[in-house]
Amino acid sequence: MSARLHKLGKLIKKKSLAKCLFCTDGLTPDYKDIARLKRFMTPRKRIIPRSESGLCVRHQRQLSLAINRARQMAML
Ligand SMILES: [Zn+2]
Repeated sequence: MSARLHKLGKLIKKKSLAKCLFCTDGLTPDYKDIARLKRFMTPRKRIIPRSESGLCVRHQRQLSLAINRARQMAML
């Protein structure tokens, strides 16, 4: 039981530590902002999942849209 509680506490702590970078900066993901988009991609150009990027739902969705847009324009 204690182990389970411990695990849960760890999860909550981990989630609260990572804050959405776009919310804190007051920005929205932009397909022209390649440098920022690259920070949310793996070396193999895959989008980092929300559990690791720490973004909020809205910005993660906007980010994936921006990355896909940039891919179509062959900027990434
Ligand atoms: Zn956000």
